[in-house]
Amino acid sequence: MTARLSLADRLRRVIQAQGPIPVSDYMALANAHYYATRDPLGAAGDFTTAPEISQMFGELVGLALADLWDRAGRPEGARFVELGPGRGTLAADALRAMRAVGLEPPVHFVETSPVLRSAQAKLVPNAAWHDDLSTLPEDGPILAVANEYFDALPIRQLVSTGAGWRERLVGIDGDRFAPAAGPAVPASAVPAHVRGAPAGMVLESSPASLAQVRQLSRRMIMHGGAALIVDYGHDRLAAGETLQAVRMHEYADPWIEPGESDLTAHVDFESLARAAAEAEVAVQGPVGQGEWLVRLGVDARTEALARADPVRSESLRIARNRLVSTEEMGRLFRVLGLSAPGWPALEGFR
Ligand code: SAH
Repeated sequence: MTARLSLADRLRRVIQAQGPIPVSDYMALANAHYYATRDPLGAAGDFTTAPEISQMFGELVGLALADLWDRAGRPEGARFVELGPGRGTLAADALRAMRAVGLEPPVHFVETSPVLRSAQAKLVPNAAWHDDLSTLPEDGPILAVANEYFDALPIRQLVSTGAGWRERLVGIDGDRFAPAAGPAVPASAVPAHVRGAPAGMVLESSPASLAQVRQLSRRMIMHGGAALIVDYGHDRLAAGETLQAVRMHEYADPWIEPGESDLTAHVDFESLARAAAEAEVAVQGPVGQGEWLVRLGVDARTEALARADPVRSESLRIARNRLVSTEEMGRLFRVLGLSAPGWPALEGFR
């Protein structure tokens, strides 16, 4: 019997035997290990998300989707789909809000982590779980949401050498992992407006994210429905490295101890929106999470909850501000709406 090797040791062996690996492989393996081995959410974990800050977030997601379904004529067979549901908190809050307006959809979760699947099963016992989008049902509209999911999907990095662009690969430098320029890529792999970036500049893309948006789009085209994608990121593609590691609510070094911190990258909403538009899905936004929540009525909801339970009124207002304020999550977090052609537009975008 040999002792179980850590992910870092296994990756080191692979790199020693076969040479440096793409950044996307490093990130995919690190995050698969990270999420499979812990519940990272909340004050005692590594990071906190909008649905964990306040029930109002999931409720307003649920109401936005239920309102769209209502205006679409209450079609039969609609499913609630969530990508990367974390603890299941968003889904539980969204489903409660949907139920209040007469929508009780079957629930489908895309989740790879066994630890988080069992947390989700406690809050949403009747869900069906999927390893990826390929097995989601194909016979009715989907009402989908993904919060802080796309930022965890693997990115590819290219690096400018001043004389052309190269794929960035991860090798070993002493006891750490280290990115370095690998094979040249054709100029056509780099959008024209960033092609002339100075040496050392990094350009990121997420083929895995685009593939998943295309899968969602195809289902919406065939069977109707809508999707809300909420994450931190940028509306316009620009060069610059955004890969980061977070551990115990602090930034950490992404190149040590892979699988022990949360690796994320800014979501490139421009490319996601383009992938959906090319699939002929209607695109709304992206807009700031703050303005989106305000348009959906977060202030009235805050006051209603405060009136029902005055002891909580201060903590409700603090939570509302964390979600909405431009200094907190309100601007950096963006909301992108996708809806099937022929369906009405989602609320909250204008
Ligand atoms: N949406 C939740 C959790 C965000 S954390 C919230 O807002 O609180 C990211 C979630 O995506 C986790 O549930 C994680 O296990 C899941 N996840 C990450 N990478 C994944 C992948 N490649 N496939 C499926 N699920 C993934």
